[in-house]
Amino acid sequence: MSADPKPGDWTRVLCPPGVGARLYAFAADIYPICRSITGPGVRETLARVERLVPLSRTETPTGAAVLDWVVPNEWSIRDAYIKNAAGERVVDFKAHNLHVLNYSAPVDARMPLAALKPHIFTLPDQPDLIPYRTSYYQERWGFCMSHRAFEALGDGEYEVKIDSTLAPGALTYGEYVHRGASEEEVLLQAHVCHPSLANDNCSGIALLAHLAAAMAQLNTRYTYRFLFAPGTIGAITWLANNRETAKRIRHGLVLSCVGDAGGPTYKRTLRGDAPIDRVMAHVLKHAAPAAKLIDYFPYGYDERQYNSPGFRLDVGLFQRSQFATFPEYHTSGDNLDFIAPEHLEASLGIVARAIQVLELGDRRFVNTAPYGEPQLGKRGLYAAIGGDKDGYAKNMAMLWILNLSDGGHSLLDIAERADIPLSVIAETADTLRQSGLLAAA
Ligand code: ZN
Repeated sequence: MSADPKPGDWTRVLCPPGVGARLYAFAADIYPICRSITGPGVRETLARVERLVPLSRTETPTGAAVLDWVVPNEWSIRDAYIKNAAGERVVDFKAHNLHVLNYSAPVDARMPLAALKPHIFTLPDQPDLIPYRTSYYQERWGFCMSHRAFEALGDGEYEVKIDSTLAPGALTYGEYVHRGASEEEVLLQAHVCHPSLANDNCSGIALLAHLAAAMAQLNTRYTYRFLFAPGTIGAITWLANNRETAKRIRHGLVLSCVGDAGGPTYKRTLRGDAPIDRVMAHVLKHAAPAAKLIDYFPYGYDERQYNSPGFRLDVGLFQRSQFATFPEYHTSGDNLDFIAPEHLEASLGIVARAIQVLELGDRRFVNTAPYGEPQLGKRGLYAAIGGDKDGYAKNMAMLWILNLSDGGHSLLDIAERADIPLSVIAETADTLRQSGLLAAA
């Protein structure tokens, strides 16, 4: 059941208190799945999202030309191990899916350690962690393991097996579209291609899935498109399949690494002064004053595709710790202990506030008693909010709104000038409108 939301409904509905525990449970549920850019891991992940929200899935066949790329083979994996001479699994995909080079070609051989070594990836500086390595566009086979375990490998012959398939199939992405009053769209994307990495993948999928499900309860002005797609090739395939739809995208956010204790971090769009950049700066100033705002650079997540010269869509990147800056990044250290319910909830709260500002920030009103200051006491307006712990801010919000509501200033203009969160400005404007002191401009 959807209804026209009151200003306070945006955050109350989209980020209800305690939702962090549900976000965490969802991330934990999808964490064990061995995802890649194609194959059953992506489909299984989308199936878990579909428990919350119906997705429209698109399968684009191997070999399809997509922008400057070609959809690659589909990868599936059943098992992978290295066995020592005693027949013990010294590396076991079933113990951790990071142990196999993601997208690895199959192998079934016996070889001495010297021949095996060039196929093993480790992190000598972080000797207890398994690295996350991929080889999508160059066919090779390999394993990843902790440097400590690698150094313990004795000489002798090893049995090496990767039971994988690289064969023609399809690339899968899923999307949920929440229709608003306008065809203009807000794009929200999470990548779905990393295996067992909690922050750099599971957190973003969990946030986006819950947001999409909650959105169904609200009537919106914009249409919201929630895209769950493999990184790079998935976003490229979506853009290739949706050139006309892409023209309707007005604002967007890529979400990844939203569950750890760091940040938050917002990476601006290429142009740097897009409405979404202003919205995120406003929200973070009040909700997370320590947040880091950084300028665009052409490396990172799929903001690269959306901001490319052929599309130039205003899509920023929202994270907690910035990618590639934390030691757990792309290692087995990015596990379920690295993310926490409260950080997931805080991230969702920030995105919910951003949506609130996108929906309400452009509203303009006129003061219906513009000559001098209207007498608020006789209308019960001071009393209406006097006992509130935010009473001072709300009184100031009221005075600013009345002062600036000449039809020329939006609610976001007023919020910025008053240095008061848009959420307070929007709720106060609602009260003033009910009193008759404000009318739509
Ligand atoms: Zn990554």
